This record gives sequence, C-alpha cells and structure tokens, in this order.
Amino acid sequence: MTTASTAAGRTQTSGPETADVVVVGAGFSGLYALYRLRGLNLKVVCFEAGDGVGGTWYWNRYPGARVDIESMQYSYSFDDDLQQEWRWPEYFSPQADLEDYANHVTDRFGLRDLIRFNARVNRLRYDERAGRWDVSTERGDRVIARYVIAASGALDATNIPDFPGLESFRGEWHHTSQWPKEGVNFEGKRVGLIGTGSTGVQATTAIGKTAGHLYVFQRTPAYSLPANNRPLPADYELDWKSHYAERRSVMHANFALGYLPVQQHGSVFDYTPEARTQILEQAWQQRNGLLFLRTFTDTMLSLEANEIVAEFIRGKIREIVKDPETAELLCPKTYPVGTKRICMDTGYFETFNNPNVTLVDVKSNPITEITPSGLRTTAGEYDLDILILATGFDAVTGSLTRMNITGVGGVDLREKWAERPTNFLGYMVAGFPNLFMIHGPGSPGVLAQMITGGEKQVDWVTGVITDLDRNGYASIDTTQEAEQDWGAEMAEMAAKTLYQHANSWYVGANIPGKPRYFMIYIGGFDQYQKRCDEQVGKGYEGFVLARNEVRAGDEVPTGDEVPAGDEQRPA
Ligand SMILES: Cc1cc2nc3c(=O)[nH]c(=O)nc-3n(C[C@H](O)[C@H](O)[C@H](O)COP(=O)(O)OP(=O)(O)OC[C@H]3O[C@@H](n4cnc5c(N)ncnc54)[C@H](O)[C@@H]3O)c2cc1C
Repeated sequence: MTTASTAAGRTQTSGPETADVVVVGAGFSGLYALYRLRGLNLKVVCFEAGDGVGGTWYWNRYPGARVDIESMQYSYSFDDDLQQEWRWPEYFSPQADLEDYANHVTDRFGLRDLIRFNARVNRLRYDERAGRWDVSTERGDRVIARYVIAASGALDATNIPDFPGLESFRGEWHHTSQWPKEGVNFEGKRVGLIGTGSTGVQATTAIGKTAGHLYVFQRTPAYSLPANNRPLPADYELDWKSHYAERRSVMHANFALGYLPVQQHGSVFDYTPEARTQILEQAWQQRNGLLFLRTFTDTMLSLEANEIVAEFIRGKIREIVKDPETAELLCPKTYPVGTKRICMDTGYFETFNNPNVTLVDVKSNPITEITPSGLRTTAGEYDLDILILATGFDAVTGSLTRMNITGVGGVDLREKWAERPTNFLGYMVAGFPNLFMIHGPGSPGVLAQMITGGEKQVDWVTGVITDLDRNGYASIDTTQEAEQDWGAEMAEMAAKTLYQHANSWYVGANIPGKPRYFMIYIGGFDQYQKRCDEQVGKGYEGFVLARNEVRAGDEVPTGDEVPAGDEQRPA
C-alpha cells in the first residue's frame, strides 16, 4: 500500500479502485444513468451480470418475447435526434429489436467503456468510517464508490419454483428469462409450458406455431387484450415523429407515462349496458393494457365495476375459443381484472383452437413432480421432450435482496425487509446512505411505462447528486419515520383499490415465504413525481443530509485505511 499527498493536502492511498458512482445493471435504466452521470463529469463504473446490454431484453429471448407498449412510446425520450432517427419495424417490438436498440444507444452515446460485463455484484457493503460503498463482484472486481445506483431491474431475479424432480428430467428445460442465445428447436417435439402470465401468453402463442405438441399447464388464467401487432406503417411513424415533443410532454405528465389519444370516461355505471360495451369495444382496439384499465374511473376501485369489464373480456375469450370447455378454463374468474399484470397478445386465445395445443388445468389437478420423462399431475402423466418454465420473477425486490447489501451497522437489507420492503419515495432505505434504487419497491415502477419511468427516476437521482455536490454535502440518507410515513401513504392508496384482491407478484404471492405486501406506489407516476419534487422543494424533508469536506472526484482513503477521526456518518 502506498500513500501520497494531493494538491489539496489530503492523504491519498492506492488500493481498490475508486469511483464516484457505481451503477448496477446495464438495462435501459442503467444505460440512461451512465449517460447522465458521465454528463456530470463523474467517474462511473457499471457492473452488469450479463455479457451484453439491454437488461430484460438481453435475458428474455424466449420465442414471442415482445414489449406490450407501443415502441414509439416505449423508447428513450431524452434525445430528439435518437427518437427521430431510430426506426421501429413493428408496433410492439420483439426482444431482438429492443436489444438492437439498447446496443445502438450504448454505442451512439459512447457508454460501452463504462460497463464491466459478466460482473455480477455479490456484495455491496457500506463502510461507515469511509462513508463509501464497497462493491464486489462474483468475478473478483472491487470498487469503492461514494454513490450506488441499483438499476438492477424489477423483473430480473428469476423465479424457479421448487418442483420435485426437476433435476431428473432427461429432456431439456429452460426458464424463459435464461433462454439460450442459440435458440431452441421445437419442431416435432412434445413441449410442456408451465405458467400463463405475460410471458406464458407470449411464449404459448409463438411455440404453439411450431411445436409437435404443446401442453400448456395453467394454474391461473390470464386476462389478455389484443395487441394486434403488425408492421409499423410509415405514415403512423411520421405522425409520431412530427409530434414527438408534444406527445412526450403529454406522456411525462400521464399517470402511466403513456400517450392516450382517446377520451377517458367516468364511472362504468354512468352508461347503459349497450353504451359501456361500445366504449369497451373501442378501448379493446386501443392496444394498451395499462390504459384499458382506466377506460372507466372505477374499474380498479369497485369490484362491481371491475366485474363488468372482466365479463366483457370473458365474452371475447368465449367468442374466440371454439371448444367451450377450454374457453371456460381460459376465462379468469378468481381475481379482478388488472390486479395481476394485464397481458397483451396477438393470437393467444386462438392458439387453443390448434389441434397441436392442449390446455391442462393444474389448478384442479396440481403438478406433483417432474419425472425423467415428463411431468406428473394428480390426474395423469405427460411425456415431454422440452419443458419451459414461464414462472416469472422474484419481482421488484429480488434483484436487490439477492445482491447481499449491508448498510450502517452491518444491517442486512434482507433483515431490514423481513416483514416488508420499506423505503422512502421508492429511492432510499434508512441506514443505507447514498444508495438509490430505480424501479424499486415504493416507486410506481411496473405500473407505468418503464423506459420513461427509468429516465425520470434517474433524472431525480442525478438531480439530488448534483444538489449535494453543489451544496457541499457528502451523504444523503432517510429516516425510519419517513419510511413509515411513505409506507402508510402507499398503503392508504392501495387499500382504496382492488390490487390486494389477487395473489399476484405485485404482492409477492408467487414466492414462498416472501412477505405479502403491495410493493408498488399506486397513485400514478404524475402524482409520484410531484411528491418526490415536493420533498426536495421542502429542503429534502424526510432525508438526512450530512456534510464533510469530501466532494465527488476527490481521492479518499478507503476501507480500513481511513484515519481515526475522519469518520462521517449521517447526522
Ligand atoms: C418479458 C418482459 C416483458 C416486459 N414488457 C414490458 C412492457 O411491455 N412495458 C414496460 O414498461 N415494461 C416491460 N417490462 C419490464 C422491463 O423490465 C422494463 O421495461 C425495463 O426493461 C427495465 O429496465 P431496467 O434497466 O430498469 O431493468 P432491467 O432491464 O431488468 O435490467 C437490470 C439489469 O441489471 C442486471 N443486474 C441485476 N442484478 C445484478 C447484479 N447483482 N450485478 C450486476 N448486474 C445485475 C441484470 O443483469 C440486468 O441486465 C417487461 C419485462 C419482462 C421480463
């Protein structure tokens, strides 16, 4: 270990690499964070577990993987040249186009050299004496940083249920979010697919076209709306490109960060049954699930109103699916529409009219085990060559709790969140100073369009970092009181809605042992943004700012070398 004096007279030590900010994750949020932070002349290191950029759109290569918000909207808004020049071939982009876009953005803005690939962060330890985060990766990197931005994804931590016998299966099996890059050949194969959420709906539609026989094992049917995906017409693209500025500003002020060109209606009960069907029919053609749920103001507030919308969708399923028994099985009846992630499809229900596709009800006859030759339920056995787990994610908190994060006093984030994930404004956890979360619990995250949501959250965080530096603050933390208040505010809003009526991943119900808690801020992104800005406007109310003489860019002693008396801790 060597020491030297800087011009400012501070002791400099050589040791682990230092950075102003470590960004975890090179998905759309992480990439935008790199762009913004580099613009602030901060030294940034990004660790990415994969060997490429794109996050969700790097990992989820299963057949049919596709965004369910139109690409003219689900794309970056921060650079007009980019949005004018980039061409989306389809209304709803497939995975490959989104991955291409992520790569294009990375190279266009020169971000690649900031990213260390194949570098999964497996330890994030706050060093109180140094006032720094000590970040380590599985492959042995170590960086000491003042700030960490965890852009590690709300839908990143793979959920592989503990099916007895899975390892004994002699065929090939894949989780949809860990899909092999070389693809999987389904021709003439007997394929089993478990899970009928968003991913299962997309994969079924695609795999049903090529598999010898596809068995879809369904526990809970999905409400799915038609995306009616097709090539993007030139005039539609031109129309968007000539109105991007106005439309983006509409989106930025919208509750779901979406652009809604149709009129919103009042209560479903303000209309006659014929009129409401007509309105729903119009919304059905709109190609936006999040906005469909807001067609009437009370869909997500009243069980009776919701049931009318749900029954409209069931009517569509019964029209499409020819076999009445299969149609009934595909009709969701046990939870209100929208309380689980709404799906979008192009031909999902039609797939069950194909003779090579069989729906298997594993609610009535649960899966008992995976066998070497297939899958067994309480009702029978299915011989399979390929098994697909479309079983989703340890959503919203999983990528954070799997990172081994410890804060002030060595408190483990998993212990802190044992009962529920607490934080303030979705950004900061008390006792974990200078650690910001993007799309984490407590934010609107998955209930809004997430590229724009990521941009707005990153803008807020980089605004805070700039403020701290400008005003000579070294760290920012929050308090347990602020966390409790935020939790109460979120719970009060959620209690007025129907979201708690479903065993969804929104409440952690898909993961055994995960605390049941509605993790998402439900008040809309517009309201959320206002609340976050208010707290800053009130002099960072609910936060704790601490000063010392260290500024971003300064070399500082790290870890055990911090001289006695130089400790800093939040006030
Ligand atoms: C199948 C699917 C369809 C979706 N469709 C839509 C949609 O239609 N509309 C919408 O708005 N959103 C959709 N989403 C949500 C999607 O996740 C977001 O839109 C967006 O891509 C999130 O970007 P992100 O950068 O925040 O997170 P991610 O894209 O999840 O990126 C997180 C990155 O962090 C990395 N990472 C995680 N942990 C670590 C670690 N410990 N160390 C290093 N790296 C780590 C991961 O490898 C990943 O690359 C979908 C998600 C899925 C899975």
